[in-house]
Amino acid sequence: MSQVYKSLSIANPDTLSWSPLQKLTSAIGIAGLTILIAATFGVTFPNATAWLIASLGLMTVGVVSFSYVTYLQQPAGIKNNNIWHDRISSRGISAWVAGVAITAFYIVLYQYPQVLGLGSDGAANTGLVALFDPLSQWIKGVPASQWFVYGTLYTLAIIIFGIRYIWKYRHNKYQVLRTISVMFFQTGFAFLIPELMEGLNKSTYNKWFDKDMKNMWPLDYDFFFDWHWEGMISNGSIGLFMLILGIAMIFFISPLLTYLYGKRWYCSWVCGCGGLAETAGDPFRQLSDKSLKAWKIERWVIHLVLVFVTIMTIAVLYTQMGNNPEQYWLTRDMFAIGISILLLGVIGLVYYLKDKHPDLQQDAGKIIMGVLAVIVAILLINYFIGSGNAFFIDAYSLRSAYGFYIGAIFSGIIGVGFYPLMGSRVWCRYGCPMAGLLGLQQKFFSRFRITTNGGQCISCGNCSTYCEMGIDVRSYAQKGQNIVRASCVGCGVCAAVCPRGVLRLENGSDDIYEKTLDIRVDGVRLSE
Ligand code: SF4
Ligand code: SF4
Repeated sequence: MSQVYKSLSIANPDTLSWSPLQKLTSAIGIAGLTILIAATFGVTFPNATAWLIASLGLMTVGVVSFSYVTYLQQPAGIKNNNIWHDRISSRGISAWVAGVAITAFYIVLYQYPQVLGLGSDGAANTGLVALFDPLSQWIKGVPASQWFVYGTLYTLAIIIFGIRYIWKYRHNKYQVLRTISVMFFQTGFAFLIPELMEGLNKSTYNKWFDKDMKNMWPLDYDFFFDWHWEGMISNGSIGLFMLILGIAMIFFISPLLTYLYGKRWYCSWVCGCGGLAETAGDPFRQLSDKSLKAWKIERWVIHLVLVFVTIMTIAVLYTQMGNNPEQYWLTRDMFAIGISILLLGVIGLVYYLKDKHPDLQQDAGKIIMGVLAVIVAILLINYFIGSGNAFFIDAYSLRSAYGFYIGAIFSGIIGVGFYPLMGSRVWCRYGCPMAGLLGLQQKFFSRFRITTNGGQCISCGNCSTYCEMGIDVRSYAQKGQNIVRASCVGCGVCAAVCPRGVLRLENGSDDIYEKTLDIRVDGVRLSE
């Protein structure tokens, strides 16, 4: 007997239930996850290699076959069916359970790794960490750590949910290419290369430095820390190469690429945080808050984190130097003068750009005064304090505070744990200093923008709904106004889900900021 729908709605108001195949494939994935959970709770598996292969294999088969059934057997095109009906993607009970479970995992990972089975004082690993020992031994010849477990699961999540993402958005070349890109950078640069290099350099195993070539300051906030610096300097040509590359990334490569392509080159094509948000976090992108209040909070918080990391880094560098030119090639005096010149350069740049950008014109005075105040503070500290402290605060307290509150709690625990409740880019939107820095450049000094063909917009709101950064894209599209927003990560999903082809991601000419003030539809300028 056919089912009778009493609702007059054109769309089916009932929650669609999963097909038997979808249920079967999700059960396979959950079976793999269950092995990891059992190991976390202390179950010892007799043959770790076999159980690890079974666990990772079942999770891979489960996610990939579920995605195959759900997306690849359907016509190409965006499928967001049922997204506000499913409990997991609409802040239902399962979303809260997932949020609490992921948050708990991060707390244990950062604060209590022994709960995961990490052996201390030379003792053998147990539990979850012991399950990964065979893989760690095979890759680098040492037992696993909690970070090896995390890195493996993180990379696997990006790969298997990346396959899901590619099949879901397969009609859109931009989405396919950038997903392959984040999978490649995570697997190669963030996981395999650093792990293999540690395996090949066991003699210098303790002289650790970050071997992830795509990671850079300020996201890599410990780049300028003394132990990291010494690790690079004392590790021969490869250490020196990483040092030069790290500095070149900060001052040359990143500014150039952001000028040419916007911050998307990093946030949506390279970064591991963005990679996880785009792949495993895709079912939650619609949960981002689109309100003006959220936008205000976002601008305050992300720029405060950027200021925090800058002050912390300057303070750390300052304390690593001395006053005697015979002992230090860079003395505190020289450092203070160098930073002051750099900041004066920033003032010059703001002054130069203010005529081009009306927004900047309004804020130029405040920015210049703020930067001048920092310069004066540095000079005063250098000449009248001269102690191991900078900014009147012990630099080591400052750096451990940053590492704990921002590096661990914000980026890990909140950044990923809150995916099912606040959307997939909580960290990128509110906390990442790299996104803050690249965003400022994107807004004032980049060729990237999203162009809108307002006449075609039917105000369906798909673009705003699926913007993970909480940008109300529709409001720009309705006015036919091009979009240049500091927070836009250039994921391109707004363009991919638009049924009318209104939006295009472009790298235009230098006058793009000027163009964003033009409303194509009626010729009225927004600034007037
Ligand atoms: S505006 Fe579009 S491209 Fe930018 S973050 Fe939002 S969805 Fe992605
Ligand atoms: S998705 Fe396209 S048609 Fe719908 S509101 Fe956005 S720009 Fe307009």
